[in-house]
Amino acid sequence: MNKPPDMTQLSLYAKREPVFNRRIDGKFRRIKWAIMALCLAVYWVTPWLRWDRGPYAPTQAVLIDLAHRRFYMFGIEIWPHEFYFVAGLLIMAGIGLFLVTSAVGRAWCGYACPQTVWTDLFQHVDRLIDGDRNARMRLYKAPWGPAKIARRLVKWAIYLAISLATGGAWIYYFADAPTLWTEFWSGTADPVAYATVATLTATTFVLGGFMREQVCIYMCPWPRIQTAMTDEKSLTVTYKDFRGEPRASLKKSQKAPDVFGDCIDCNQCVAVCPTGIDIRQGPQVGCITCALCIDACDRVMHDIGRPRGLIDYATLDDAEREKAGQPPTRHLKLIWRPRTLAYLAVWAGIGLALLFALGTRVHTGLTVAKDRNPPYILLSDGSVRGAYTLRLRNMEGRPRRMEIAIVGLPGAVMWTDDSARADAARTLTRTIPADATLPLRVYVVAPPTTAAQDFTFRVTAEGEARETALSEVTFDTPQEANP
Ligand code: SF4
Ligand code: SF4
Repeated sequence: MNKPPDMTQLSLYAKREPVFNRRIDGKFRRIKWAIMALCLAVYWVTPWLRWDRGPYAPTQAVLIDLAHRRFYMFGIEIWPHEFYFVAGLLIMAGIGLFLVTSAVGRAWCGYACPQTVWTDLFQHVDRLIDGDRNARMRLYKAPWGPAKIARRLVKWAIYLAISLATGGAWIYYFADAPTLWTEFWSGTADPVAYATVATLTATTFVLGGFMREQVCIYMCPWPRIQTAMTDEKSLTVTYKDFRGEPRASLKKSQKAPDVFGDCIDCNQCVAVCPTGIDIRQGPQVGCITCALCIDACDRVMHDIGRPRGLIDYATLDDAEREKAGQPPTRHLKLIWRPRTLAYLAVWAGIGLALLFALGTRVHTGLTVAKDRNPPYILLSDGSVRGAYTLRLRNMEGRPRRMEIAIVGLPGAVMWTDDSARADAARTLTRTIPADATLPLRVYVVAPPTTAAQDFTFRVTAEGEARETALSEVTFDTPQEANP
């Protein structure tokens, strides 16, 4: 009887084999180029876009203003109490990933993930400095000498420049980009800016330059989550073994075409793979579905006069159908399936809810905190006084006059720290600076024998009846609340 393997001796980590992927051109490679250019352009250009919000607000189109606790995105300004918009966008991004995975498999990993984009970029630097696959393999095996050291230094310097550009671009989302640019390069920027750039430069340099596919295989949780999300109807890069096997060299397979499949074991699909895997071994977590092996194999099939698609985007179900001689399902039909539609419905539902909230939000805000200790003060004439701290928000880029009113609490009047009790009234007005919050200490006095009850503070922007905010609070008195 065979002895079972000693599990304690098994390693969960396979020693890294360096990947020297070969250059390839084709349909999917060109799509990758286009998406890489788009992602990098959006990333680098966005902080430099300007947006006129008037004299009281920043002119940067997209700005995460941590110091003033604001998030600007073109015409939208999000305040801290509106964080649900950001939460909603993050939830949409998460469900969007589920949607994309359900529709077209790991397209995010293969085309748009920053780790993929930067790894791809660094692999092109490798080719530029060290040559294509074979030259790089030779150089890797060659002993260290002046030429090899010089090439390494040049290559790492380019890695560093790209990494610096990455870290450098990120900080411009958090402050006025032109100002920060000048300060950064004149050495007068905040130390946090230098620390952030140093951290991002180092992580990009290490993750994109050296760890590469190891991040996808071992560090990133997304491949595992996707594995749980994909099923036999999910589009993925598939090697059609029923067509390719048994594989043999071109010479051998030409001699006995009825015996051997279409795969001529040229290894081109492995040579171009950025993660260094062999797709012919079936679906695996290391496959980011970049489809470069499809480009490579299609080219081989074209050269030897066989139909393309030995490796192709397909579902496991379709592979079975094709194996049985049936036509594959149209890709559009695969995409519009119940699971994808359910994700789309949830994603669109959240998006519409956010749009509705955005369209109906007012730019006037009010929060009220009641003094708890003491809850009320009995005045010499028997009337009862309560104290409140109001925070009036003007969320527009211009100063606005606002009326504060007491709604309910019959006979009550109010005054503030900067006015006298003699001027007490049921309404008062204040001008709130542009894009600011005004704290206001308010004293409310109600006639003797007033029972404890709730009432409302109402704030209305002058001349803008729709711009109203309400806050219900309690007025405490020694009298029991009316039943
Ligand atoms: S590129 Fe195509 S033919 Fe060549 S080994 Fe890969 S699957 Fe086989
Ligand atoms: S196996 Fe093909 S699709 Fe998967 S990562 Fe490698 S080249 Fe890309």
